[in-house]
Amino acid sequence: MFETDSAHLGVTVLGSGSSGNATIVHCGGEGILIDAGFSFREFKRRFEESGLADTIRLRAILVTHEHDDHVKGLRVCADNLELPVFTTRKCADVLRRRDAKIGHFSLIAPGGMFTVGSFSILPFSIPHDAVDPVAFVVRKDEYKVGVATDLGNGNHVVQYELQGCDTLVLESNHDLNLLAASSRPWPLKQRIMGPQGHLSNDASSQLLSKIIARNTRNVILAHISHECNKAEIAEDCARKCLCSCDRGDVALSLADQDTPIQTAWL
Ligand SMILES: [Zn+2]
Ligand SMILES: [Zn+2]
Repeated sequence: MFETDSAHLGVTVLGSGSSGNATIVHCGGEGILIDAGFSFREFKRRFEESGLADTIRLRAILVTHEHDDHVKGLRVCADNLELPVFTTRKCADVLRRRDAKIGHFSLIAPGGMFTVGSFSILPFSIPHDAVDPVAFVVRKDEYKVGVATDLGNGNHVVQYELQGCDTLVLESNHDLNLLAASSRPWPLKQRIMGPQGHLSNDASSQLLSKIIARNTRNVILAHISHECNKAEIAEDCARKCLCSCDRGDVALSLADQDTPIQTAWL
């Protein structure tokens, strides 16, 4: 079991990548789940493995967009854990069309702040080929956490909203050379590389250099492609970026598709 500390704000990525995404932001015994991209059984396994299952009570599930790797376990997780689900109206419409048995949604809008327990949450629009996709900034006391895993580019809105996070979960999806050399069909490569696709390591670092601030303490690279990236390449790229910003002191970690990683604490 990992170390937990209920007095501080923690971010625990239970898993991230094209096969499933789930991240928990937690503090003082309560937490919110961002995306439910694993089956309930798999979610439970990871929740327990992270050590959080015994120490925090989840208050809500926030959904970024309707892609399967973010909602695969949504209905069963929400039903079993008896949690409200927050998402945009358009995303809720798609999910309901897909699964008529899905329960009630709490509707949110990009730019509209809402609260869950003691967390203030701001959803904001991101460029991604989904229906009204959002990323989230979560605030608690003086701290700011940003979670942005599927975005084709770091446009001005993204830069503005993610500026100055204390803990940042940021996509570092692919290495451009590995993507080009992969066996993926050309239209899919174009989609991934495109402005509504996923952030390359280089684009992720470029964005990071624009949004990092003096208070930034943790950066977690996420949604790392198995086929079109390597952990060492993604890490090296981000580390060079941090060093060039004179921020070699920032704790850098990499989310994993298969297992929860250590909690990033503030
Ligand atoms: Zn995704
Ligand atoms: Zn997506």
